[in-house]
Amino acid sequence: MSSQAGATMVLSAAMDYRLPATVVPKRYDLRLEPDLVAATFAGEAVITVEVETTVTEMVCNAAELAIQSAALTREGGVPIHGSITLDETSERARFVFPAAIAPGEWKLTLRFTGTLNDRLHGFYRSTYKDASGVPHTIAATQFEATDARRGFPCWDEPAFKAVFGVTLVVPEGLAAVSNSAIVRDEPLGDGRRAVHFADTIRMSTYLVAFVVGELEASDAVMVGPTPLRVWCVPGKKHLARFALDVGAFSLDFFERYYGLPYPGDKVDLLAIPDFAAGAMENLGAITFRENALLVNEGAASHAELERIADVIAHELAHMWFGDLVTMAWWNGIWLNEAFATFMELMAVDAWKPEWKRWTTFGVSRAAAMAVDGLEATRTIEFEVGNPHDCRAMFDLLTYEKGASVLRMLEQHLGPEAFREGVRLYLERHRYANAETTDLWKALGDASHQPIPSIMDGWIFKPGYPLVTVEPDGAGLKVTQRRFSYVAADRDSGQRWRIPIVLRAAVKRGYVERRLLLDGDEASVALPAKADWIVVNSGGHGFYRVRYAPALLKKLAGAVAKIAPIERFNLLSDAFALAQAGLMPSVDYLDLTGRFTTESDRNVWTVLVSSLAYVNRVIGDEHRSGLAALVRHRLDEEVALLGWEVQEGETELERQLRGDLIRALGTLGDDVDIQSRARDVYARYREDEASVDANVLPAVIAVLAAAGGESEYAEFRERFKSARTPQEEQRYLYALAGFRKAELLGRTLEMTLNGEMRSQDAPYVIRSLLVSVYSRGLAWDFVKRNWQTMARQYPESAYTRMYEGIAGLVSADSEREVRAFFADNKIDLGGKTLQQYLEQLRVAVAFQEREAEALAAYLSRQRPR
Ligand SMILES: [Zn+2]
Repeated sequence: MSSQAGATMVLSAAMDYRLPATVVPKRYDLRLEPDLVAATFAGEAVITVEVETTVTEMVCNAAELAIQSAALTREGGVPIHGSITLDETSERARFVFPAAIAPGEWKLTLRFTGTLNDRLHGFYRSTYKDASGVPHTIAATQFEATDARRGFPCWDEPAFKAVFGVTLVVPEGLAAVSNSAIVRDEPLGDGRRAVHFADTIRMSTYLVAFVVGELEASDAVMVGPTPLRVWCVPGKKHLARFALDVGAFSLDFFERYYGLPYPGDKVDLLAIPDFAAGAMENLGAITFRENALLVNEGAASHAELERIADVIAHELAHMWFGDLVTMAWWNGIWLNEAFATFMELMAVDAWKPEWKRWTTFGVSRAAAMAVDGLEATRTIEFEVGNPHDCRAMFDLLTYEKGASVLRMLEQHLGPEAFREGVRLYLERHRYANAETTDLWKALGDASHQPIPSIMDGWIFKPGYPLVTVEPDGAGLKVTQRRFSYVAADRDSGQRWRIPIVLRAAVKRGYVERRLLLDGDEASVALPAKADWIVVNSGGHGFYRVRYAPALLKKLAGAVAKIAPIERFNLLSDAFALAQAGLMPSVDYLDLTGRFTTESDRNVWTVLVSSLAYVNRVIGDEHRSGLAALVRHRLDEEVALLGWEVQEGETELERQLRGDLIRALGTLGDDVDIQSRARDVYARYREDEASVDANVLPAVIAVLAAAGGESEYAEFRERFKSARTPQEEQRYLYALAGFRKAELLGRTLEMTLNGEMRSQDAPYVIRSLLVSVYSRGLAWDFVKRNWQTMARQYPESAYTRMYEGIAGLVSADSEREVRAFFADNKIDLGGKTLQQYLEQLRVAVAFQEREAEALAAYLSRQRPR
């Protein structure tokens, strides 16, 4: 924090956003009385503050609150009443006192009222209907990044850590949950009770949580001394088992990994019917979207279970990294999230090694590279002045690129040294705040390596390198430059320190070469008889590889001999090169022909999604050619897998079956698959156990693509009466997968008429924008309704909705999209909009460059 002297003189732009440090909160005694019927709340905050230097006023944050009184007392003195000014623009409350306030400890007592809003931030309300259609209301909080100020007046910056003593006054019969255990439950004699919670550890305001409503809890699972529970609306407790299993394992795993006990006194995992993000790491009271926590394990696909395990492990990882040690300011949010993502993978990989979580992470890494290859990317860490700017940090670059470069560092330092460094960091900074440099220092102390010199390029430079490999005499020449989709032939001059691992096949096995490439180029000596070589061996590197044609040809002939993550990277990099104009698209399509017997799910994921991309680029008249190509690539593996679970299969193989049936029945438009899906679904209606949980979501998607009025009516009904969050999601997204305009129009209506939750509607629109059957309709709908959407949808989800514009692939659409954003002055925060527009540009350029070649190639694909 800056010193008080500077703050009173000239306020720099950045300083404007920071509260003066003349008064520092130590402790909040909060009493909140939510009225769920009126959707309001009343509160009292007694804030113990340390006055550092004589003041006559105090400034803290408040938004959408009315503050009725402000009184300052000191041990044994009479209250000094202050005048109150609220500034909604700066979201601040200013209290001016009639006398000078001397340094020392004071108690500031504030009485305030507020509204339980419907925007899923601050202190908000979530509503749901029970099985008999009766509506119910829950009050819940979402305070990160800067919305604690909507729940109570506070010093709402992460470095102002304090102890919180919370009391919730609620009607008898309603559950009340906050960050710590209940110490006293006091009946008030008026039909209400005051629930008093134990003091928290010193923590940041954005981690405070209150949840009030008709909720029920699972029995507690003990993890050492810590009780772990799952909370949900009545009637869903039977969906908590899986979460308890993952939670118990992860909590124990993190205690061991971090070498520190869990910092709270209990862990509650709460499923909230309306929730903007996936989950939120409030210490001891972690809130989730229902579909990220509750599941019927036996009826869920692998993908659905993996997501839940990921999210739970991620939030629990934050209890130490984020909650116990917190970033000093919002520029550090990337490390908070990147690290939790990294640890989530560590925990899930330890829990279910057979899920091969580090291999499947390749898909997420590739998604980050897709954004980071744009000119409009950003550096992982950047200066954050206005805290609103940190909204743009909750993206793929923070989570997935961040976790990727941490994994690259961990592999470079070795897992032991890395863990020692993390322990040192937590030990040094617990109950306090830290900067990125503090972690580098701790990792450096533990590993005796110069961390900043390796990491700075990845953290403080935008983008990532393209490593080109060419034969050079008996060896190889590797060179680097920045990868770019739109400026592929321009060298930006940027260079990275790249830990490169490459492997060459020789007569009796392999030889490995490791180098740290930090200049333009390096030579690598190879054994004389080297056959093929693979660069980025092991797949941990955050860079793309471009092989000289001769090398690519050899490697393509050896795909069966390289690891799944290496095959994944080979395809992912090749398609990116095609998008950037560095490889003819038809060469890429030829390459996919090498993978017809592929057995790894991730490799299929990149292959299928690249063909879906091509489908968005080509004209309608070539769709049947592409479908024929899809069938050619997928047929053999689908025939091998069949429709039924086979003895000894892994979970990943079962999920692959679902993935491929879905792709073949939708993108491949395979009539046999569609007809079989109808039979399977008919059987499912008679006997639910007759269909594997990995196949059912695929069957639903295929029936939507091939279906009409009757399927639509059935799926819509099943969406409304869904018994699990997963079932709800499957049918919901199926409604976006139909192809008839009239049906799609109904789905669009549902995004605004209250039939869909505002937490889901923007994502449904995003998927409608990228489908070739609905994109035109969806775009027209967005143009007509965007202002209503901006009001109704949670801000983060509203922003993500526009990601779908990258699906509007034509020069005319692109012009129109650009005009729309310019005319309406829509700002999505940070560089988000520029990124979406550039993704559209890349697709249109690809279309203009490749249309002719693709048309010729696809017309040669023979329909079966
Ligand atoms: Zn997180």
